[in-house]
Amino acid sequence: MRTRSAGRVALLAGLFLLLASGCGGSAPEGLGADAGGAQLMPDSVASPSATAAPVAIVVPTLERTNTPQPTASPSPTAAPPLSLVGSYPIDGDGAVQPQRPLVLAFDRALDLPSLQASLVISPTVTGRFEWQEPHRVAFYPDGGWDGHEAWQVSLDPGAYAADGGSLAQAWSVSFSTGGRGTPLPVLMYHHVEELGPDATEGKKDWTVSPQAFQQQMAYLQEAGWHSISSAALAGYLLDGEPLSPRPVMISVDDGNRSFYENGWPIIQATGLRPVMFLVAQFADYSGYVSWDEARALVAGGAWIGSHGYSHRSMHEVPLEELAWELSDSRAVLESELGVAIDAFCFPYGGRTDASLAALPGYGYRTGYSLNPTYWQRPEDPFFIGRLRVDYRTTMEEFAEMLPD
Ligand SMILES: [Zn+2]
Repeated sequence: MRTRSAGRVALLAGLFLLLASGCGGSAPEGLGADAGGAQLMPDSVASPSATAAPVAIVVPTLERTNTPQPTASPSPTAAPPLSLVGSYPIDGDGAVQPQRPLVLAFDRALDLPSLQASLVISPTVTGRFEWQEPHRVAFYPDGGWDGHEAWQVSLDPGAYAADGGSLAQAWSVSFSTGGRGTPLPVLMYHHVEELGPDATEGKKDWTVSPQAFQQQMAYLQEAGWHSISSAALAGYLLDGEPLSPRPVMISVDDGNRSFYENGWPIIQATGLRPVMFLVAQFADYSGYVSWDEARALVAGGAWIGSHGYSHRSMHEVPLEELAWELSDSRAVLESELGVAIDAFCFPYGGRTDASLAALPGYGYRTGYSLNPTYWQRPEDPFFIGRLRVDYRTTMEEFAEMLPD
């Protein structure tokens, strides 16, 4: 294949993917030599008239900002398997934005021709590839994703990394546009502690036992769930950034000492990380984490969001104190903890028009509610649903809370 450099940008030209489509009853669906008779023809200028009609031609536009160029021939090595670490869309997304590209992110630089030959999209669609980074490729379908009820994208193990490592396992997603939302479960926790036999029903609503919490975190890890931050959730819903397969947010409200003492050591023993919605004023109160403890949470990998300055419902906050609750709480958390905050969790789930209007201007991208659903809607990022886990939740119920 030919390459030429223009400044720091090397353009990879002359790579044409011929895509046979609509060949009678056995019409191949997708992109890929195995699935659809597609051919990679490096070092040639393909002409539609040179092949049997009907043929759709995909002319990938490949741009990257650094070398090396992908190799055209695999050289099996002892390199570790290639892993797909993120995608847009994720499996089951029913609210894909029609004009956004398919984006695939891998754990390291990949060989693009091998990816193009292994990628199957159904129904067949033509489009344009863009190599965004050595480990990340985007595909822009001509005309967007509209016009079909459901799309399927799969990737065979034939794809391999620039260092020769093959894709660890076949991967596939199905998705659609205009549906009920994106399946992104956000679990909601408060206290992690043992309760006595006389505990009130109200207390049971906001508590899980250490043993149950340990089982729940072990289940998430063993079932392949990946904990995500509010920045990752916002990036996916609002920007079309790729997200880990099987994403889940583990949100913990209020910064209770019981979580710090009982839940935090459990979650730290896993590969999972929580999003802690902290209340700025609570750092001075007993029963809640201090600033030093909050800094220890951050150092241990916890993500932080604001849960207001005083934990009042937005319905109780006078307009003149709105900036204090929304903006000052964020500023205090950011300066005390040295983190960037982009998420607001509504105390008691109380949302008002005034708070919803003000949140974006204060730097927030998402808002977390008590709406009990895992379907999140890109057009309503300040009404993220959350699933409460409580003292009565069995492991069977916990597993059923999550998307399939
Ligand atoms: Zn709270």
